[in-house]
Amino acid sequence: MQQPLIFDIRRYSINDGPGIRLTLFFKGCPLSCLWCHNPESISPHQQKMFNSGRCIACGECVKVCPRDALQLSAAGLIADPLACALCGQCAQVCPARAIEMVGRTYDIAELMEMVDRERIFFEESGGGVTISGGEPLLHPSYLLQLLKACGLRGVHRAVDTSGFCDQGVLLAVAQHTDLFLYDLKLIDDALHRKYTGVSNKRIIENLQALSASGAAIQIRIPVIGTVNADEEHARALADVVAGLDGEKKTVHLLPYHGIAAGKYQRLGEPDRQGALREPTSRELTDFEACFSDQGLSVVVGG
Ligand code: SF4
Ligand code: SF4
Repeated sequence: MQQPLIFDIRRYSINDGPGIRLTLFFKGCPLSCLWCHNPESISPHQQKMFNSGRCIACGECVKVCPRDALQLSAAGLIADPLACALCGQCAQVCPARAIEMVGRTYDIAELMEMVDRERIFFEESGGGVTISGGEPLLHPSYLLQLLKACGLRGVHRAVDTSGFCDQGVLLAVAQHTDLFLYDLKLIDDALHRKYTGVSNKRIIENLQALSASGAAIQIRIPVIGTVNADEEHARALADVVAGLDGEKKTVHLLPYHGIAAGKYQRLGEPDRQGALREPTSRELTDFEACFSDQGLSVVVGG
C-alpha cells in the first residue's frame, strides 16, 4: 500500500468538525484553487520551505548540500531549485529551523498512538479525528485502514473532501466515516474550471450520491470577494444544497483571508492571490441569507 505524505498534524483543532479534534492533512490535491491557504497541500511530493526571516546566515546548509544548490550572498541565502534534489540534508543541519521539508509518511500504528493520546479530549468534547488535505480520497487504501482503526476504538471520524474523486471510492469510504466535510465552491462550471482547474460536474454528482446514501454531510463553502461573494453565486449554491436528499445540511461559510502569501514565498512559488479579497460583512450577510431563505442552517466559520 502506498503511503501518502502528511504535511501537518494539528492537535486541539476546533474548526474541522465537532468538538476537539486531531486533524491530519494529506498532501496531494487534484484541484488547485486560487484561494488555497495551504499551497503546500497541492503537490503530492515532498517540498522544501525556506523562511528567510529565521535564517541567521550561518552557512551550515551550504556546507552540507551535495548538489551545490545553495549559496550565501550579501542578500541572504540563494537556492537553485533546479539543482536541489530534495534530500533534506540542509533542513537537518539548520540550527534556526529556517529550512523545513514538508511532507512525510506515517505508519498507521504511529498515527494511532497519537490518536490514543488525544482520546481523553475527544471523549470530553465530542470530538475525534478529521482527515483533511489536500484530498484524502486520493489515497483510498491507506485512508480506509486509518478510518477502520479509528472505528475500532470508537473514535469519531470526519473526512474533509473536495468531492473530486471516484464515486465508488467515496461510497466505500462513507461506510467508515461518521461525518463528511464536503467543500463546494461554485456552481458555474466555467468559473469552477477557471478558479480550481477542474470541472465541478463530478463534485456535484458525488455530493448527490453521497447524500442519497444517507451519509452525514456538512457543506463547507469558501466565500471569496471577486470570485463568488455575491447573491447570484450564493443562490445557485443554496439551490443545489437545498435539493439534496436526506436531512437538511448545515452549511459552513468560510470567509477568505489573505493569509497564504508567506507560504507561497517560503515555497518559492508565485503568490497567485493578488486579485482576491476578503468578503465584506454586507456580502457575508447577504450570502448567508440566500441559504437561510431555503431553510438551511448556516454557520460562519469552521
Ligand atoms: S534539500 Fe538537499 S539538495 Fe536541496 S538544497 Fe537542501 S541539501 Fe541541497
Ligand atoms: S543553515 Fe539555516 S540559518 Fe544557516 S544559512 Fe542555512 S538556512 Fe540560514
